Amino acid sequence: MMKTSRLESLYAVEKERLASVTDGKGDYLHPVFGEGDSSAPVMLIGEAPGRDEAEAGRPFVGKAGESLRRMLSERVAEPKSIFITNSVKYRPVKVKKIGSRLSYSNRTPTAVEIKEGAKLLSQEIELISPKVIVTLGNTPKKAVELVTGEKIGTLSEVHGKPYFSDFLGLYVIPLFHPASGIYNRELVPVMDEDMKKLGKFLKEGGIL
Ligand code: URA
Repeated sequence: MMKTSRLESLYAVEKERLASVTDGKGDYLHPVFGEGDSSAPVMLIGEAPGRDEAEAGRPFVGKAGESLRRMLSERVAEPKSIFITNSVKYRPVKVKKIGSRLSYSNRTPTAVEIKEGAKLLSQEIELISPKVIVTLGNTPKKAVELVTGEKIGTLSEVHGKPYFSDFLGLYVIPLFHPASGIYNRELVPVMDEDMKKLGKFLKEGGIL
């Protein structure tokens, strides 16, 4: 079977499984799966879809996605030449009661959700077999640590530095999540520097 159809069948199984989850902690009926070239040498892993992504059915299409796609095309490559997925495939939600109505907001996935999501993530990594994995933020760094059984280090120490995973036989480059720069403007130049380093690493290594 072709890579793409194997990926599609993995996603179809997960879509069906998620549709039967009824704990109310996520938007399980609108999962968002990976997108891009399934033979891409670079696989980018985010945290989880937010409301915009769940609505569109595509990863990184909201505010953080806009910033990510701009940084990638300026410093690295066209986003479509990169496979983009998330650690958790559904939108984790926080439910609050305001008067008589319920309000839903995005939340960070829990450790249990990251561990659960790491099963499909590890199958995606195996199938796509990228040369480099780029993690965006703490959640995907943790997810990759779970897949590999290796500790990469804290994001503040290791961001922008290629880490060679013996388990996967490839480089993992941890970056800050694109939303970090929206909340903390001081991180913007750091993140831009990291993106430049990533672009240089991929170019000099003949990867992209
Ligand atoms: N943030 C993520 O980590 N992933 C998305 O798909 C969107 C926002």
